[in-house]
Amino acid sequence: MSQVLVLPPTDPHLFTRSPPASPLQLAQCPPWAPPDESLFPELPPLLHGHPDLHLRNGILSAAASSDSDGERAFFVADLTHVYRQHLRWRACLPQIQPFYAVKCNPDPYVLRLLAALGAGFDCASNGEISHVLGIGGIHPSRIIFANPCKAVSFVRNAAKMGVDTMTFDNADELYKIARAHPRAQLVVRILTDDTKALCQLGIKFGAPLATVPGLLAKAKELGLTVVGVSFHVGSGCYDPSVYTDAIMRARTAFDMGAEAGYRFSLLDVGGGFEDALFEQAASCLTEAIDTYFPDRSGLKIIAEPGRYYVSKAFSLATNIIARRAPLNESPAALSELPSVMYYINDGVYGAFNCILFDHQIAHPYVLCMGDSFHIPSDEPLHTSSVWGPTCDSIDCVCPTAQLPRALRVGDWLGFDNMGAYTICAASQFNGFQVSKVVYTTGGFGSSEVRSILAKFAADIECAASL
Ligand SMILES: *Cc1c(COP(=O)(O)O)cnc(C)c1O
Repeated sequence: MSQVLVLPPTDPHLFTRSPPASPLQLAQCPPWAPPDESLFPELPPLLHGHPDLHLRNGILSAAASSDSDGERAFFVADLTHVYRQHLRWRACLPQIQPFYAVKCNPDPYVLRLLAALGAGFDCASNGEISHVLGIGGIHPSRIIFANPCKAVSFVRNAAKMGVDTMTFDNADELYKIARAHPRAQLVVRILTDDTKALCQLGIKFGAPLATVPGLLAKAKELGLTVVGVSFHVGSGCYDPSVYTDAIMRARTAFDMGAEAGYRFSLLDVGGGFEDALFEQAASCLTEAIDTYFPDRSGLKIIAEPGRYYVSKAFSLATNIIARRAPLNESPAALSELPSVMYYINDGVYGAFNCILFDHQIAHPYVLCMGDSFHIPSDEPLHTSSVWGPTCDSIDCVCPTAQLPRALRVGDWLGFDNMGAYTICAASQFNGFQVSKVVYTTGGFGSSEVRSILAKFAADIECAASL
């Protein structure tokens, strides 16, 4: 009989999170090592160089690769873009602390950079909370559990993890919280006008103002602490003036709080910030806050931006894997109907799920054609359609696009603005893998980003060893 090998019992401490580092512990950490490419051993390398360079490098290495999936689509993420968005935020909204909405893109480098920059985090589930706290160096007070409808086990888990700030918009939530996390610091999520947004959230969340006094009375009766008000004007908000109305409603909710015997100290203006309209949104917000909250002593103002930080930070390179004529043999030259269908190796079941879930429109451009990165501007075009790789006909990335006639199988199409609500919701339907990410600090702010990350990495490592 062979000898049975008895394994020693697993050390239970291996599976428990070390407590967050205190500021004192961090202060004891030595100066950090010079930045290099492997700041976080568990993550892919952080490269130097402009994102376009890495799009090209990725294509060149695909051409040289003999892998079974050597031509795989890939993202290039430029972390300096996230950094510059943060500087822009601080310049336009210095009095509002951003709590990044993790669901938008829980990328490990993005989360670490934002943590290092001092941002907080908006989490909606146990998974997101563990993910953020698992990074290390992030105190649970930097998390708002901003899902107004939580499973009771999630509320209990938040209590255990030390996450106290959480939103609610209904009475059942108050009963659950009274049972599972009576010390919680509650934020009432109110309903605001979200009709000016790509993705409306008001059909699912937000207490109409008329219901707020009743909810606050119930909270009081249950002995709960309500500390403030939140709202969300809808994701992808294209009319920043809605912030004015939302702040006015938040003011009313603050007054209702005072009536109910609470002294609110937190105003959470939610997400919805669009890159192109950011300055406009910031000035609407600032003006409305000045008008409706002229006395801001003891008031903390936070926001939950998601898309704003990451949308433009990620580009996607896709390979044309197939090409064919459309079914309808119409005289394409005379109509706007596509005269050729291109099939690429990421689609709506992958990164382009943003077309279905986030109401986005994809704009392809040619990255590489006939082994050349130089595409002459007078290249003759034809109307084309672009499709994903799965066997489902819903998998259409772009129903019409003007693309060069000379485009062939093996050429590459690029897509910008692919950082928000893409990778996070991508599936592996039909056996296609989620496209990988190549990281760089290619733009303006490169050395700052690298030293900010290096210091963060060193602080975490030091705090973990104390
Ligand atoms: C999705 C979401 C956000 C982020 O919205 P963006 O439009 O990406 O800024 C913020 N807060 C809550 C509660 C959300 O559900």
